Amino acid sequence: MASAFIFIHFFFLIFGVESFSTGSGPTIVIVGAGVGGISTASRIASSSDLPVNTKLIILEKNSAENVGGRCGSFFRDISNLGRFRHERGPSLLLLRDVYEDLFRDCDKDPNDFGLEIVQCTPAYQVVFEDGDSINLGFKEADPDSSTLKNESQEKMNEYEENGALKWDEYMTATEAFLDCGLPNFIEEKLDLSSFPSFLTEAMKDNFKAWPLLPHSKVLDATFSSTKMKALASFQDLYVGLEPFENKSNFAGGVVKKTAPAVFGLLSALELHPTNKKGGVFAPIGGFQAVSSAFEKLARSLGVDIQYDITVTRVTDEGVWYEAKDSDDEQKFLPADLVIVNADLPFATKTLMPDTSLAGPKAPKYDWDDTFDYSSGVIAFHWALDKEYPQLKTHNVFMIGENEEKAEKSWAAVRFNDPSVTPFDNCDFPFNFYVHRATAVDKSAAPDNCDSIMVLVPCCTLKRDERLAALHRNETIKGYEAQFDDAFVSKVRSCVLNRLSRLEGIDDISSHIVDEIVDTPASYGNNYNLAAGTPFALSHGFGQLSLTRPAHESKKENILFVGASTRPGNGVPLVLLGAKQVAAKAIKRICKKVKQFS
Ligand SMILES: Cc1cc2nc3c(=O)[nH]c(=O)nc-3n(C[C@H](O)[C@H](O)[C@H](O)COP(=O)(O)OP(=O)(O)OC[C@H]3O[C@@H](n4cnc5c(N)ncnc54)[C@H](O)[C@@H]3O)c2cc1C
Repeated sequence: MASAFIFIHFFFLIFGVESFSTGSGPTIVIVGAGVGGISTASRIASSSDLPVNTKLIILEKNSAENVGGRCGSFFRDISNLGRFRHERGPSLLLLRDVYEDLFRDCDKDPNDFGLEIVQCTPAYQVVFEDGDSINLGFKEADPDSSTLKNESQEKMNEYEENGALKWDEYMTATEAFLDCGLPNFIEEKLDLSSFPSFLTEAMKDNFKAWPLLPHSKVLDATFSSTKMKALASFQDLYVGLEPFENKSNFAGGVVKKTAPAVFGLLSALELHPTNKKGGVFAPIGGFQAVSSAFEKLARSLGVDIQYDITVTRVTDEGVWYEAKDSDDEQKFLPADLVIVNADLPFATKTLMPDTSLAGPKAPKYDWDDTFDYSSGVIAFHWALDKEYPQLKTHNVFMIGENEEKAEKSWAAVRFNDPSVTPFDNCDFPFNFYVHRATAVDKSAAPDNCDSIMVLVPCCTLKRDERLAALHRNETIKGYEAQFDDAFVSKVRSCVLNRLSRLEGIDDISSHIVDEIVDTPASYGNNYNLAAGTPFALSHGFGQLSLTRPAHESKKENILFVGASTRPGNGVPLVLLGAKQVAAKAIKRICKKVKQFS
């Protein structure tokens, strides 16, 4: 069988695989229907520069209900109660305009595609281990918000003298970082007008908030209490970093695992009261509604999306793939350009051979472990037969007792080692996040019920050469053993213990009627994520902006898009990267057409 495929492959090479040379127009194949793949396809398809008859084909390994890759929802029907909706990944919708711009840039109205977005007020509830809680992030013009905001300011002043004033000053500094960092370093569009306030804030008070310092140094110079510092730094987890200076690493760790202070821009992005880009939002219908809207847009522009097709090898001439239920039969799809949306460190290691003459290959799961990765996550998706209004849409559970414990609570990020985050007893300090979808969208659970997602940072998968060499199913089984039931059950107990410290939810464990658990092994299996981390390569200076893997590969006809390339992880960043990749793809395809005409 294999020799037949090799023959077909040589046939293409000798007689020309350039599909447009047959007169039918060029073909662009995209590997993966994540938000990166779908949005790149829509942008290319809607471009007026695109050569006529260009075909855009997306091949996705999962089935159609998994549109959007990590970004989407799944449903569980529970007898006598009804249907519960859970998020597969994202729950925080940031930079709302970036989502809507995808439609506008394609000359479409997002409302026509079912995209409905609401702001969450408060943006967050932060709960400390002593049961104390505080709300953050309010809508400026909303009267209900002003009461919450006053309460929050009073709390900050209890945490330390002038806490609320210092918070506002910190927000001003981080807003300057956001206004300069977003266009110049994330969108890669030079915006000189944002530099004066950036430099003013960065140099103020003897460089107190200098953006290249470890985040904790700037927080120490700004706040005195552990709780205020925690409020200003929990977002570092989203970029796969910890806020604490790591003295044993070069430059306090900012090249590797420690967030530089510039990532305070994430606080402004989520919590600044007046910044136009700020605010935490939620999509009505969950993130499934977002990905379905993206998919509808792509199809309306003529993109062909094929599900249940696993790409096994990517070459300069096209891709080898295997359809589900095809008895391992592999076929070759010639392409003039391949855009790889599958996670980059997985794709370079597993899908891309050293030689363009390579033939078909059995599906594998492996990754390039020379990169630094974000943390892993244990996710609990719970259906509850009771409502818990004590939880807001977004809740962060943190450690505020003292600096030593707070620093320890980030061990999963710093050490990436299971032995330092054992969850052996419930006094072990750790941070976690809880999403309660029904707080803004009742459709997530039946009446009087709740749908809750808990995300607990943990270590990533440990790469094992021996496992990597096995058949994919065996490889995954081996990695599943790294997060066995005993470990998951310890994490669950510690989470339930901490949750019960928030007044009114101490009975939560007895109301869980259904549970789905994700671990780094299931993220690896479901989406081929390198190291099983949901948050891609981390964003220390060694893997940020120009030092992050580029969209271009070593091969002329292959580009990358997605969370492990530039600019980085998170749906809006992936959408911004897709815009850049689409522009590069159009340029390349036009050049090829010119060469052949
Ligand atoms: C638990 C969790 C929480 C998160 N929280 C947030 C949040 O609150 N806000 C936010 O903005 N972001 C969040 N993220 C991150 C966000 O989901 C990602 O950054 C984004 O969805 C990545 O999109 P992508 O297109 O790069 O990758 P993916 O979604 O991974 O898409 C890649 C696609 O390629 C497919 N694929 C892989 N290999 C092959 C193959 N060989 N053949 C065919 N198809 C293949 C995969 O199945 C997948 O569908 C979260 C992620 C997770 C998992």
